[in-house]
Amino acid sequence: MEIQKNLENLVKRYDTPAHMYTEYPHKSFWSEEFGENDYKESLNLLSSYKKDDPMMMYVHIPYCTMPCFFCTCHFKVTRDHEKIKNYLKTLSQEIDLLSDFFDKNSINPRFVEMHLGGGSPTILNEEKFDYLIEKINNLVNIKNLEEFAIEIDPRAVDRKRMLYYHQKGINRISFGIQDFDINVQEAINRVQSPELVENLITPDIRALFKYGINFDVIYGLPLQTKETIRETCQEPPVTDWGHEVRFNVPGMNKHTVAF
Ligand code: SF4
Repeated sequence: MEIQKNLENLVKRYDTPAHMYTEYPHKSFWSEEFGENDYKESLNLLSSYKKDDPMMMYVHIPYCTMPCFFCTCHFKVTRDHEKIKNYLKTLSQEIDLLSDFFDKNSINPRFVEMHLGGGSPTILNEEKFDYLIEKINNLVNIKNLEEFAIEIDPRAVDRKRMLYYHQKGINRISFGIQDFDINVQEAINRVQSPELVENLITPDIRALFKYGINFDVIYGLPLQTKETIRETCQEPPVTDWGHEVRFNVPGMNKHTVAF
């Protein structure tokens, strides 16, 4: 009886909207009091790093053309390219500020990894992407990166775009898949066939991204069952290549599951 009551209390306690568990540090550690000086102090800590310590940079593009209903990422839905252009201008100002700060404080970080995420970085057309890469190159020598990754919405790219990303120095791509079952896809407002993905990652394209190609697959989606997950992992884009399958598991890092 007592166990039952404790369980009910636990369910009541945790049956509320929560912060996204995949962010680090967790949002419950964030503070609104963290201001400009704290940010500068944190950046100053970089000067105490040894010259060769490796660093990574993340750049966020917070726009998507459609919302996936499960998504808790920081994004806004838009098809307004002026809005995206203005965001890139602001981002470029921030890159300049950071670059100035490093110069004035003789900080020379050795960036070895760069990740473009969102939202959907694939919302940027080639002209806007060129602009962004040029700006980033003022701060990070892209040629020296060991890993340069981008999150890809398969609905927003074609083979030409995949080649373009390779030409820009990207060597790892991350596809948002979630589940290939059509009923699940309709329920989450993200319809994309296995064939669509398969046609994007033909062997010649795979060979270009030497640091790897990964699929994000989520479990816990509406209408999803063990069977839909198993079938998703048995679709040709996955099995053709005998890759590991990674899951976003609440409370854990990405988790590899064998089928
Ligand atoms: S495309 Fe990605 S970021 Fe945008 S709503 Fe869907 S899951 Fe979220």
